[in-house]
Amino acid sequence: MTLIGPGQTIGILGGGQLGRMLALEAKRMGYRVITLDPEPESPCGQVADAQIVAPYDDLEAVRQLGRAADVLTYEFENVSATSVRALEAEGRRVHPSSAVLAITQHRLREKTFVASLGIGVPAFRAVASVEDVERAAREIGFPAVLKAVSGGYDGKGQIVVRTLEEAREAFGRLTAHARGSPTEGPPMIWEQWVSFAKEVSMIGVRDERGTLVTYPLVENTHVNNILDTSLVPARVSPRVEEEARQIVRAIGEHLRIVGVYCVEMFLREDRLLVNEIAPRPHNSGHYTLDACMVSQFENHVRAICGLPIVAPLLRSPAVMVNLLGDGRGHRLMGVERILEDPRVRVHLYGKKEARPGRKMGHLTVLAENVDEALDLARRARGQLQWG
Ligand code: AMP
Repeated sequence: MTLIGPGQTIGILGGGQLGRMLALEAKRMGYRVITLDPEPESPCGQVADAQIVAPYDDLEAVRQLGRAADVLTYEFENVSATSVRALEAEGRRVHPSSAVLAITQHRLREKTFVASLGIGVPAFRAVASVEDVERAAREIGFPAVLKAVSGGYDGKGQIVVRTLEEAREAFGRLTAHARGSPTEGPPMIWEQWVSFAKEVSMIGVRDERGTLVTYPLVENTHVNNILDTSLVPARVSPRVEEEARQIVRAIGEHLRIVGVYCVEMFLREDRLLVNEIAPRPHNSGHYTLDACMVSQFENHVRAICGLPIVAPLLRSPAVMVNLLGDGRGHRLMGVERILEDPRVRVHLYGKKEARPGRKMGHLTVLAENVDEALDLARRARGQLQWG
């Protein structure tokens, strides 16, 4: 394994907030960073050494990024697998590989893969026709969620259905959606709606030698399908945490991932069901910047560059809350009030327009225990407003 050392260049496909936080950690460690994103002065572009302004699937631009970088990664799993393959075909070092991306960006392949390891997933069926919808309704039942196999995130491309009529209508809408991002095979899946006790996630990191480390289990709350709150350590039994760790290890080992990844799971009674795998740093791991000795972003840099990855030490219980735009304005007001408390850490992504539901930043609060951190985090967020 060749070492990519400080002074060398990391190329990041995608210039959003994950790329930005990755770039900030990489810069701290002495690396050069170049990113590619269609939006000029993207969150990552603002802190990187350079940005190529181009769509993610512009192969010429992607190759230009490849020539400029010693190692490449992506911060967004909807970046096209074709772009990553093009880089690999030129002999560039890209982590995680296009094979990992091809599975994790396709819900049907992803669920089939996870189930093949004997790990629990919500009951699902591939859906390509109204007849498939009717069959899935008989076999799995309601409520259910129809999800486009690709191109969806943060709840986009998915529709909850409670009746056959709703399901037929959702099928029509998702068929139209699928035309925008054509894939081979069935365009959507029918998934059982899980009445879970908690949503949890765990970050794993694996390097080229096969060393694998995991972060603590995180407890998540979503609002309108978008992550709202992450709390660590999760309030679950040690047995559940250990089972999650085994799941995360098995997935990382079988996919032979190099880099950071996240597995999102539903906890139902005492059983874990895998919802999604993200082959990149994850929103539910942002707390690691403030609460762990080595953040998910630093461990990602270490893994893709051939440096030692280390098991993270949790310094303190922590709660992260996302800051979303709400359409009321683009300036965040009240930061000066919450910064009086040293336990509150503010992270903003440098996005100019605070569109409703857009992830603009997050707060991490460290406290003696998660309940106190949760209370503080909510109160701190309540003092902020867009105007
Ligand atoms: P996803 O994009 O698949 O991660 O879905 C976003 C969020 O929607 C999840 O974090 C859950 O809160 C909810 N969700 C998705 N699928 C299901 C399901 N099968 N049962 C219950 N909730 C779900």
